Amino acid sequence: MIPFSPPHIDDKIIEEVVVALKSGWITTGPRTKAFEQKIAQYCGIRRVLNVSSASAGLELILRWFGIGPGDEVIVPAYTYTATAEVVLHCGAKPVMVDVGDDFLITPDNIRKAITPNTKVIIPVDIAGLPCDYDDINRIVNEPAVREHFHPTNDVQRQLGRILVMADAAHSLGARYRNRRTGALTDITVFSFHAVKNLTTAEGGAICLNLPEPFDVDALYQELCTFSLHGQSKDALAKTKPGNWRYDVSCAGYKCNMTDVAAAIGLIEIDRYEDMILSRRRAIFEAYTQAFKDDNRFQIPEYETVDKTSSFHVYALRLRQADEARRDAVIQRIFDQEVSVNVHFIPLPMLTCYKKLGYDIRNYPVTYDNYSREISLPVYYDLTDEQVELVIEAVKKAADLE
Ligand SMILES: *Cc1c(COP(=O)(O)O)cnc(C)c1O
Repeated sequence: MIPFSPPHIDDKIIEEVVVALKSGWITTGPRTKAFEQKIAQYCGIRRVLNVSSASAGLELILRWFGIGPGDEVIVPAYTYTATAEVVLHCGAKPVMVDVGDDFLITPDNIRKAITPNTKVIIPVDIAGLPCDYDDINRIVNEPAVREHFHPTNDVQRQLGRILVMADAAHSLGARYRNRRTGALTDITVFSFHAVKNLTTAEGGAICLNLPEPFDVDALYQELCTFSLHGQSKDALAKTKPGNWRYDVSCAGYKCNMTDVAAAIGLIEIDRYEDMILSRRRAIFEAYTQAFKDDNRFQIPEYETVDKTSSFHVYALRLRQADEARRDAVIQRIFDQEVSVNVHFIPLPMLTCYKKLGYDIRNYPVTYDNYSREISLPVYYDLTDEQVELVIEAVKKAADLE
């Protein structure tokens, strides 16, 4: 069986994890800090805070921004549940909008969904393709939109407009108009979950890119504390002789990254561009060569004049299919010992959101994309021979229509 996305764990990673384990310091410490700096450098920004997951990072920022009951947060209907769950945790309302043919939230749909209660927009770089950030950033800065923004605390007053927080769980290393994700929005959150392009088993990173008058160095310190019980000193600082006394400034959270996880990340980030992304790109290109002239298939967009994907998910679509036919094709692919997937089941089709009143009929493009989508395996250890087997299996499964 060709698996869908196993992690790439080699001796270099294992050795670095062993060194971390033997170092006498396994939770947040020097490796976490070094990894933060490498991510910041890679993205071309000043400050990154590592956390225990992207979900924790998204929620930490919503909490910091004071999101609560009565507030609205715009999210795409086509995403993983984490994007909207964090909004529900805060007691606020996820306002779902439809996406475009490229799977991404559209600036037009965002604009239509903005109300005086809108506090945050969470665009999602589905499959690794960045959203239309110049348009999205322009919308939140329009005088008429700013005028309708009603800040209810000091942080919101300081920003004076809707916050743009990218869910970039898929898009580390993707580019939009010559800048990398992380540098494109006020806040960007990456995921290092086991199935993502770069993994630390579990983990996430918050890129701090807020405009003046925010001081991102001070904000970094504040969020460090906020991610560690609101405690004035972290565990490492407290190990310094005589440095035992601490204070707790607020009811903080507990979502710091461990140095054991960061050890994996430190190895991965150094070879991410040349080794991981280039292999993923080669696999995308092989699939595209195989499917682009076959009119049964619609190939995904992953490189345009403005955008280069991080090649996270190869979201192939059947041209003529409904959900049942797509499901049958998937079964026939599995029957040939090839694992595929669907990214994603739209949120309004999941019980949690149906119970809250969301209805998939209001998101026709989301549903159409979903009903024809089959995600193909893409990972570093997938060999050229396996890529050929995947292509054969998919074509044969579609032949049996
Ligand atoms: C994986 C994923 C997340 C959550 O990441 P975690 O690190 O597991 O919390 C959020 N959004 C999207 C789109 C994802 O695919």
